[in-house]
Amino acid sequence: MTRAPVVLKFGGASLEDPVRVAREIHDAQVDHTPLVVVSSAREGITDLLHGAVQHARSAELHDRVVREVRRRHSGLPPTGERQVDRLRRLLREIERAGPPAPPAVDQILSQGERVAVHWLSRELADRGLAAVPVEADRLGLITDNAYGASCVLLDRSRTAVRRGIYALLARGRIPVVTGYFGRSLEGRVATLGRGGSDYAASAIGALVGASRVELVKRHVAVLSADPRLVPGARPIPELSYEEAEELAQFGARVLHPLTIEPARAAGVTLRVRSLEDPSVATTIAPGDPQRRNRALTMLRPLRLLRLRVPGGRQRPGIVAEVSRHLSSANVNIVQLYTSSALLCLVLEPGQVLAGIRALAPVTREAAAMVEGPYRVALVIAIGDGILDDLDRLPSAAVDGAEGFSATPRALSLAVPESRGPEVLRALHRALVGGSSK
Ligand code: ASP
Ligand code: MG
Repeated sequence: MTRAPVVLKFGGASLEDPVRVAREIHDAQVDHTPLVVVSSAREGITDLLHGAVQHARSAELHDRVVREVRRRHSGLPPTGERQVDRLRRLLREIERAGPPAPPAVDQILSQGERVAVHWLSRELADRGLAAVPVEADRLGLITDNAYGASCVLLDRSRTAVRRGIYALLARGRIPVVTGYFGRSLEGRVATLGRGGSDYAASAIGALVGASRVELVKRHVAVLSADPRLVPGARPIPELSYEEAEELAQFGARVLHPLTIEPARAAGVTLRVRSLEDPSVATTIAPGDPQRRNRALTMLRPLRLLRLRVPGGRQRPGIVAEVSRHLSSANVNIVQLYTSSALLCLVLEPGQVLAGIRALAPVTREAAAMVEGPYRVALVIAIGDGILDDLDRLPSAAVDGAEGFSATPRALSLAVPESRGPEVLRALHRALVGGSSK
């Protein structure tokens, strides 16, 4: 049996510098560690494909997109050319048939990664690396049927993915696997949602029992806050799986929200690192109670609805009822704050009207009243043991807040939207430190 491999995932922006990518792979091979590369599409290609799908009938736009895909992948081997031809055919089909159904959309979107792995494998081969392109759907990475936002089914994928990858590793090859998509239970192409190559890499790492998965980004690093909003934001060297999961779910855009789970479940260490600045890296592994990481995120614009329920506590099941009505109208609750007779619901702006409509039965039956919507931002502080920090919250930050909730891992504050950035900076000063103004 081959040794446990390391998975290296390269994002679209890092592919802009294939010489660097090849050097990274050479360096990672020093002690003959077997490597699996996971690749996203080149930067901007998935956006182009999205545009092409949105203008289903526009042959002229499609021609331009295909030309651009060719231009961005110069030196494509014939196998890669065939993937570009396939893209052309798929686009011709929608020019005739009109806007495609979700599985057909995913098939078109997946072509960005397919072309990329053929191109990258050639670039690596030119630099003496035994790279072999692998398409994840053919490999047997199985997902559910939620096209556009599917989940990898690890148990169903394990046998085929292990067999396929280890067969290549045993021959001394470097599999270069497409990120972003797999094959649905119905046997069609299913994408994992934007930024899904991180998630694919984590899943593949878990499936092959990798010793670690490195997510290589060109510039990005995991910081204590968005540096455009908080000038004093600093890199975070280590995060627990749970902290990283909260961060990814709460909108820190560095990671696809589902990235952490497969790695956590399999006990695989994740490392997020920057290609430009090797000193910036974050290791995501089991937590250490001694550590005191604090990271902040902000979500906006959002809307808050206050639902006043007279005698709320005396009504068992009121929260369940509210969420049942909302979910049957496909309205997602971003955050929920409750006290005895008050439920504060934070929703996406585009879902507020549907939300109010969906709550009509509750307002009738429970004689509840809806107030709002109020424009809010959610400021979220994340870190294991964060309840210890409650006494450090600056009172100015909490002033005029519309809601507050906390678990031992994250606390969230809903504040008037216009005050969001100021509260974010105040919390960063109090919890992370530094001189952010
Ligand atoms: N190419 C896909 C996207 O741009 C997946 C990824 O980059 O991770 O969303
Ligand atoms: Mg991309």
